[in-house]
Amino acid sequence: MKIRKITISILLLLVVPFWLYSQSENVDLGMIYKIKQEEQRNSKIDDLTFGLVDFTGPRLTASTGFSHGCDWAKKKMEELGFQNIRIEEAGDFTRGGWDNLKTYAALTAPYYANFACNPVAWTGSTNGLVKADVVLVDVRTEADLDKYKGKLAGKIIMIPATTTTPYEINYEPLASRYTDDQLKDLAKETTPGAGRRGGQPMDFTAMMAQRQLRTKINEMLKGEGVACILNNSGTYNIPRSNGANYKAGDKEPTPELNIPMEDFGRIQRLLAKNVPVQMEIEITNKFFDSPKVYNVYGEIPGTDKLLKNEVVLLGAHIDSWHGGTGAADNASGCIVMMEALRILKSLDVAPKRTIRVALWGGEEQGLYGSRGYVSKYLVDPQTRQHKPDWDKFDCYFNMDNGSGRYRGIYLQQNELVRPIFEEWLKPFADMGCSTITIRNTGGTDHQSIDGAGLPGFQFIQDEIEYDRGYHTVMDTYERLVMSDLRVNAMVTASFAYNAAMRTEKLPRKPEVKMPEGSGQRGPGGMPPGM
Ligand SMILES: [Zn+2]
Repeated sequence: MKIRKITISILLLLVVPFWLYSQSENVDLGMIYKIKQEEQRNSKIDDLTFGLVDFTGPRLTASTGFSHGCDWAKKKMEELGFQNIRIEEAGDFTRGGWDNLKTYAALTAPYYANFACNPVAWTGSTNGLVKADVVLVDVRTEADLDKYKGKLAGKIIMIPATTTTPYEINYEPLASRYTDDQLKDLAKETTPGAGRRGGQPMDFTAMMAQRQLRTKINEMLKGEGVACILNNSGTYNIPRSNGANYKAGDKEPTPELNIPMEDFGRIQRLLAKNVPVQMEIEITNKFFDSPKVYNVYGEIPGTDKLLKNEVVLLGAHIDSWHGGTGAADNASGCIVMMEALRILKSLDVAPKRTIRVALWGGEEQGLYGSRGYVSKYLVDPQTRQHKPDWDKFDCYFNMDNGSGRYRGIYLQQNELVRPIFEEWLKPFADMGCSTITIRNTGGTDHQSIDGAGLPGFQFIQDEIEYDRGYHTVMDTYERLVMSDLRVNAMVTASFAYNAAMRTEKLPRKPEVKMPEGSGQRGPGGMPPGM
């Protein structure tokens, strides 16, 4: 008996470490090697970039350019041999279609100077080439509106933004890599919502008050029949791109033009010294019926009998603003996701689970595409009722912080995936990509998945010319760092492969009961239109 007990103990000693070992992540380093080799030798990043950036051009949601972008992506996915490729409706889009056909603006008095400018999307056209006086309409409260009534017909109007702070010389570099210390700090920080981008809580009350005042101003200006409204929007002579909160079918809003603060400031200073200022402006925009948002999908189907219907999702938004070519925001993300799937396809992998790429529409107007996917396939946003694909959903990886190299990943508070990602990132530590932070990061499509209670993640990225490029006319090819995109494609491909081959799906955050009215986030984590 004694001998038997000892034998069992020895057996246990031998078995337990093996059992523990089998619980750790089993990363196929041979496959990681192949992924890296494929990207280093046969990268198609350059080709994808030309196609989606220069060839396709701007891709404002529901514009003609957006349709071209989706068509290009579908065709390219077909060329690359992806399967189940489709452009699919993701939901209603109340703003409708809008194209900018012509934009020109110049100062004509006290002297001639042409201005870099960009029209506000979903605003109207000028009546041909208009030449008019510029008037500063300084409205801080509703009462200020009375001063201008009956005096603005046919004028070009400037509204100083109430939030504008005076210009200060910027001593920060345009592009930067995270230092080791910064990454250490990022990993340590555990304050929820303290992510580098989009993590700060919004002051909704102040924002709504400002929005209401702006609506009142717009109503007054519409009644007055002004020719055009100039916005102080952009620095370094780079106008920003944004859009009006227009509802399809409403009367076309007064034309609005974003001009950078250097030009805006010059006019404002001239007017303050009573020097008359005149401008000529011509804007032609086209409104058209386009009431839906679309997503583009392509995939490598799963091959395992039991797991093939489970989905590992990779995504980025294909819509952009209309000023530049949306290279960093977010062609770069789409390119990386498509390239990651291309790498796996060219290696003839047979993933157990399906690996799907989703290129979302309508991100810039409120995560429409990814929220549409969640409500169509995963969970009803109102009733919280799970859809059939809920149980089959594994995880989502998103890229939307520009061209910068991956330096690690945000856990979105999901501590359960940390030991898994630690192993997955090890083969990329020597590329500087190994940081794991518990923090949330926000502002983009992974929030739709994470907000639904499913594993949705975004990578930590170096900030490359972020401030000048994002949402401006300078979001172009030049903002991209191809070598960084190649690294990101390798990491994404290996994450997708690891997830698709893993025995279990990635662990979900345990459900936590929230008290009634505690502001629990729904899918997307933010109200529509933000
Ligand atoms: Zn974006």
